[in-house]
Amino acid sequence: MQFRDLQKQYQILKEEIDREIQAVLDTSNYISGSQVSELEAQLADYVGVRHCISCANGTDALQLALMVWGVGEGDAIFVPDFTFFSTGEVVSACQATPIFVDVDPATYNMSSVSLEQAIQKVVAQGKLIPKVIIPVDLFGQPADYDTLHLIAKKYNMHILEDGAQGFGGSIRGKKSGAFGDIATTSFFPAKPLGCYGDGGAIFTDNDEWADLLRSYRIHGKGESKYDNVRIGMNSRLDTVQAAILKVKLKAFAESELEAVNCVARQYSDALKESVMIPVVQKDSYSSWAQCTIQLQDSTVRNTLQQYLKEKGIPSMVYYSKPMHLQRVFAHIDYSEYVYDVTNQLCDTVLSLPMHPYMSTEDVDFVVQEVKGFLKGKL
Ligand SMILES: *Cc1c(COP(=O)(O)O)cnc(C)c1O
Repeated sequence: MQFRDLQKQYQILKEEIDREIQAVLDTSNYISGSQVSELEAQLADYVGVRHCISCANGTDALQLALMVWGVGEGDAIFVPDFTFFSTGEVVSACQATPIFVDVDPATYNMSSVSLEQAIQKVVAQGKLIPKVIIPVDLFGQPADYDTLHLIAKKYNMHILEDGAQGFGGSIRGKKSGAFGDIATTSFFPAKPLGCYGDGGAIFTDNDEWADLLRSYRIHGKGESKYDNVRIGMNSRLDTVQAAILKVKLKAFAESELEAVNCVARQYSDALKESVMIPVVQKDSYSSWAQCTIQLQDSTVRNTLQQYLKEKGIPSMVYYSKPMHLQRVFAHIDYSEYVYDVTNQLCDTVLSLPMHPYMSTEDVDFVVQEVKGFLKGKL
């Protein structure tokens, strides 16, 4: 059994994907081919925003957004403590200070209560200026944007939505990628919409920021890439990846998103009496980047992972270390903040195999083994 079966997906989409790759080879427009702008238009349309700016990966996407807002030394940027490293890394890469915020125990997304406490602490200390909130749409579920936008407005801050895991998720029909003043996603192969290498995209309704993003991603270009008006990056999406993504976006929208939700429903119905699963909010739809369960403690979690491995079932721990404990941030004083939920999650979570092409038999096999293990523990 595969954790995320990309081979099975390729076998199903092979004919179309091979044809699209061949078309790129035939023209040899490997950089900025027409497929890139076609894909950008399709992505903007799917997400429901004016602009999509593709780039080299989800990490660059976040950093480019911070560059557009002029984020730098002396700025406080608020990031969930329970996320992939990139969300905090880009803040330090811009010389700003990441302030990590605890997450909500039901959704694992940024807690608005902890966020507001953290902002007030930073304001009271008077050393840093609160600039940007970076909520993450963790494991496929959009963060609590209704509340987050109220807080951002109150403190005059921007919201940068990290939708690297959220593509396809929505709240009351509004899609991930449309919630932030700027939003980003990643096309890393294992994400809800993945390519066959690295890729990313940025979304915004703001024309001025979109123009700046298009400049920053190609060496701070002005009229052309040989007219350079600012220090930028080299961060483009390859034409081959755009061609692959055009096929995969169609499959994602037509069937995969729904299929992965069926798998999630089967897991949830079968496991909800035995283990904790993050709660999908009433008005929300998740793209299920991960199916994560929570065990009673780290010993049970680690023993279950080993047990499943022996049965041929792969599983992953996302994430084993809170951001505020990463060694690279040791010089920043987080002692005044509380991270009870994240600390607990890092000890107890386990992500199970999950993808749109997973058979009901395979889900059932995983469920039976998890339940069998837990019964043995009683
Ligand atoms: C994967 C991921 C990223 C980074 O995306 P890359 O394309 O790998 O650079 C950023 N944030 C989150 C939450 C992610 O899961």
